[in-house]
Amino acid sequence: MSIPRPTHFTVLDATTNERTEVTREEYEMSMAASIDILQKLSEESIKQGDRFSRTCSFCYAKNPLVRSAAVECGHIICSKCAADATECHICEKSSAFVRIFEDDSRECMICASVPRHRDFLVPCGHILCRVCEKKLSFEAFDHWQFVRCPQCRADVSSGIHRRDLVEIIEPTSKKSQKETRSRQDIEKVTQILNRKGQHSNNQRRTGCEKLFARQDKGMSRVNQPMKQQMRCSR
Ligand SMILES: [Zn+2]
Ligand SMILES: [Zn+2]
Ligand SMILES: [Zn+2]
Ligand SMILES: [Zn+2]
Repeated sequence: MSIPRPTHFTVLDATTNERTEVTREEYEMSMAASIDILQKLSEESIKQGDRFSRTCSFCYAKNPLVRSAAVECGHIICSKCAADATECHICEKSSAFVRIFEDDSRECMICASVPRHRDFLVPCGHILCRVCEKKLSFEAFDHWQFVRCPQCRADVSSGIHRRDLVEIIEPTSKKSQKETRSRQDIEKVTQILNRKGQHSNNQRRTGCEKLFARQDKGMSRVNQPMKQQMRCSR
């Protein structure tokens, strides 16, 4: 017997902690739009030959062997500096740090693309491209399953489990200001569209207008434990 798919998804606004119910169709539409933008940004990044800085913004070590990311904000420092840090010195949020597993290449472990935007998983620290992260989470929610890391199978469902890595592009003199500005605009849109949801079979309808009116709030993560959500929804 197959379990019915969720009819609604809950989107959590990271800034206000407000939850919005959206229909499956609305959720899929907004996910497709956001994937489209992410892919364009990656193409552009490859075309421009972006190089991503590895310099620790705390001790200025140029190329630290191991780096860690702050769970709360995604800022990255070298693991030595992260060892006894209790807050991110860049944005001053109290945060735990997770060692991130980086390769020489930025290739995504799932789709092998070279993404502009990557996410890391908590607690394991494995990295994947943001497009795959979105698909992975959706697949799990859609089958009432826990989100698991594709590399180590760690359960990354509870609490803050998927985080946007904040990566700094090294400045190059070649880029015109115009290019940089248009890119900043696109990046702003992707931040807005970068929403993460959860399943829900609450039948309450939420209008499409409402969904899109809320996008300017910069929904960016879900930190409601999924187990609880699943219990409520069944
Ligand atoms: Zn450092
Ligand atoms: Zn920070
Ligand atoms: Zn990928
Ligand atoms: Zn993992």
